[in-house]
Amino acid sequence: MSTTAPTLPKTAPVSLELHDVHKWYGAHRVLDGIDLTIRPGEVTVIIGPSGSGKSTLLRVVNHLEKPEIGYVSVGGEPIGVRRGSGGRLKELSERAILAQRGRIGFVFQNFNLFPHLTVLDNVAAAPVATGRLTKPEARELARELLGRVGLGDKAGAYPRQLSGGQQQRVAIARALALRPGVILFDEPTSALDPELVGEVLAVIKDLAGSGTTLVIVTHEIGFAREVADRIVFLDGGRIVEQGPPSEVLDKPRHARTRDFLAKVL
Ligand code: ADP
Ligand code: MG
Repeated sequence: MSTTAPTLPKTAPVSLELHDVHKWYGAHRVLDGIDLTIRPGEVTVIIGPSGSGKSTLLRVVNHLEKPEIGYVSVGGEPIGVRRGSGGRLKELSERAILAQRGRIGFVFQNFNLFPHLTVLDNVAAAPVATGRLTKPEARELARELLGRVGLGDKAGAYPRQLSGGQQQRVAIARALALRPGVILFDEPTSALDPELVGEVLAVIKDLAGSGTTLVIVTHEIGFAREVADRIVFLDGGRIVEQGPPSEVLDKPRHARTRDFLAKVL
């Protein structure tokens, strides 16, 4: 990394905690009492069947969804709420929630790049919009980050001119531009042609080695085995089991985990 680039101060990796989180839609319990503590710098991979609540769990962490019961804290700070008098939880303002979201990177299945902005400006936009960097500073940071994801030569391109794998790598650079303490990935390779999956996983693997706290939802079990400190198996909105890959993937204790792994492996 260049020492002259006007980068934001590097953010230390942060912890992430879910405290008895429940989320429901009508009678449908999507998250049914999730307790999870992730250490700073830990790489957690969440696996589970379709509809088990994986995306909802990530969206609750980012306060894109508000839990009916429970709360999430990032780096010890509750997300979206604060403790009022008598210990009761009070909603934060939308503005305060937006500021908190700046500390949490989110990489979506479908990239969600701004189609009308160049690759460089996609990456530079958030640090400018949040007032953290001037435009020239943000662009210099964006160049550095694009180099890191192997797209230094694509700064002037528009998203539609890139492959899906390249677009997803831009999305990762964009998430990094706010120097988040934790990055959430929701099936980052499931919209990609098979031959493009590897280049995106390689970038995530590079991040995993850099000490950032990562939470990754993926069906790429081989990748999970390589990068995860911990695998969490979710089913029916509950954590069925969790532990290192050598336990959950190789010696699952629950029949539901075994059934799931038999289908995806
Ligand atoms: P996963 O990512 O594991 O496939 P999701 O978290 O997307 O699961 O969804 C879990 C369940 O919650 C699904 O049954 C889904 O239909 C339901 N669900 C998700 N979002 C909503 C919503 N906004 N309104 C109603 N039901 C929803
Ligand atoms: Mg999902």
